[in-house]
Amino acid sequence: APFQWVDVHDGLVSTLIMMSGKIGKNVRVVKEFDRSLPQIPAYAGELNQVWTNLVDNALGAMKGEGTLTIRTSRKNDQVLVEICDTGPGVPEDMRERIFEPFFTTKPVGEGTGLGLDISWRIVVNRHHGDLRVTSAPGDTRFQVLLPLTEQPE
Ligand code: ADP
Ligand code: MG
Repeated sequence: APFQWVDVHDGLVSTLIMMSGKIGKNVRVVKEFDRSLPQIPAYAGELNQVWTNLVDNALGAMKGEGTLTIRTSRKNDQVLVEICDTGPGVPEDMRERIFEPFFTTKPVGEGTGLGLDISWRIVVNRHHGDLRVTSAPGDTRFQVLLPLTEQPE
């Protein structure tokens, strides 16, 4: 898959359209996009996988009711994409383990525990970015930081 200049908003909007069947009528979707952001060098298809994983987790956490907020902004020499939900949050003692492969709190057959592991590898290893979580009940934010300039492999 090609490395190209991408507008993160294109992938975020496509992801929301692809997942619209999973977004219940009691989930409000809020887009706070900074449309002035420059394009970034990225593997567009892989980033879409990240957005899909994070939105899927947010929707799962909210169990059909709440607000999904997708926010973009610029942080120095990086683009920040935040996927936020109003679900119960990630307990503090789990916040590091959720990025490990096969870690899941979902019932057998519902979660593979690979979404965040794959997302981590795409963001950190492939794009030299960062993936972080801050979480309190009703306010969970997964933050994806992506460099604006091409990074050496
Ligand atoms: P899976 O979704 O298959 O369980 P992930 O790697 O995507 O695997 O996520 C691992 C675990 O992290 C989830 O099972 C859940 O416990 C926790 N988690 C991820 N996102 C959220 C979120 N938005 N709110 C609360 N917990 C979350
Ligand atoms: Mg998941």
